[in-house]
Amino acid sequence: MCIDHKMMCKCGTLTASLNFRDEIMPVEVVNRIFCPQCAADVSFNAENMLRDNDWIIEYDMDVARFMAHKLSGAEITPEYLFDQGYCTWRGVYPTDHIDSVKEREELVKLAKINPRKYLDEIKKWGIDRMERLAQEGWRKAHAGQ
Ligand SMILES: [Zn+2]
Repeated sequence: MCIDHKMMCKCGTLTASLNFRDEIMPVEVVNRIFCPQCAADVSFNAENMLRDNDWIIEYDMDVARFMAHKLSGAEITPEYLFDQGYCTWRGVYPTDHIDSVKEREELVKLAKINPRKYLDEIKKWGIDRMERLAQEGWRKAHAGQ
């Protein structure tokens, strides 16, 4: 099971959707989120931060290490938390969940008219989208390649 959590960035411009695999980490493991705008003022610290494109997640590594007893012997780093899905974006990038719903709305209309074409289109949409996100440089879009 995974829990979803929405969190506003420090400057309050954007909201990111986060996902916590197996509920091992509590939401408190995230200190702050920085969107590209507020991340510009942050001095990056690889000890407790993860950068994905121009976004930054700042983790509370004390919380992470404290909860890590459930993860046998793994070295707990921001990369580990993100890449293993224990605290990562919901979807590929921070606002993926919101954007994909909007993008899919158009396709859903097609589903009512022509279900077969809809299936082709949604498949194509998924592939094109992943390519675009990989090109944009999102960490999770690259992970599967
Ligand atoms: Zn911001």
